[in-house]
Amino acid sequence: MKRALVTGGSGGIGSAVCEQLAESGLFVYVHANKNPEKANYIVEKIRGRGDQAAVITFDITSEEAVNQAVKKILEEGAIQVLVNNAGIHDDAILAGMETMQWQKVLDVNLNGFFYVTRALLMPMMQTRWGRVINMSSLAGVMGNRGQANYSAAKAGLIGATKSLAQEMASRNITVNAIAPGVISGDMTTDVFPDDWIKNNVPMKRAGTPGEVASLVAFLASDSAAYISGQVIGVNGAMA
Ligand code: NAD
Repeated sequence: MKRALVTGGSGGIGSAVCEQLAESGLFVYVHANKNPEKANYIVEKIRGRGDQAAVITFDITSEEAVNQAVKKILEEGAIQVLVNNAGIHDDAILAGMETMQWQKVLDVNLNGFFYVTRALLMPMMQTRWGRVINMSSLAGVMGNRGQANYSAAKAGLIGATKSLAQEMASRNITVNAIAPGVISGDMTTDVFPDDWIKNNVPMKRAGTPGEVASLVAFLASDSAAYISGQVIGVNGAMA
């Protein structure tokens, strides 16, 4: 049975991803930062359907915490599907942005990707089959007013995706980025009011976490073996 790790698996999009990957037959590590309750709930839901999952908690911004947690996971074998989904935003126009706001957002969205991915790659390479799926954002493709830190981190993820795809191609490992637009959930409810969505999203609605998760499940499948180094939007025709 192939094993997957979904960082931020207890969040809105992450939990939908965990459920769909488990349904497609993978063992799924549902990752949470500090708070395992939500991740426990997702794991129970997955097990209730007869699929397999477990909770893992660590702070992806701590190199040491990542290496320790990954060491434990790898005792049971390689992770072959890695979904780098954990992310935060902390918005301000650049002229008024605190140094901490810049660093924190880069730390979680970009440095976290680096620590986790690096720690899991060697064993994945040894299996000669793998999938790395990075949750970028439309803001990383187009930019977004008030999100220079977030856009920089998400654009950085796209650059890393394209480079890593080339490094891994001969090992049968694909590396892709997903760039969601406005997806319903905690991250967007306060930021994008209904009127804004009607005026700015051609489909006049937010996407659902399930609609992002379906793409993750496809990219993680054997059917997507020749898709690598791509940035795929899920945005209701916003770009
Ligand atoms: P969410 O806030 O529901 O989930 C984010 C997850 O990241 C949480 O589980 C949280 O625990 C985890 N996380 C945060 N800091 C962490 C840390 N230091 N260590 C470990 N985990 C940490 O957000 P979401 O809407 O589900 O977003 C998931 C991903 O999709 C994010 O990367 C986000 O940037 C991206 N995204 C979301 C949208 C959207 O509209 N919701 C749009 C574009 C991109």
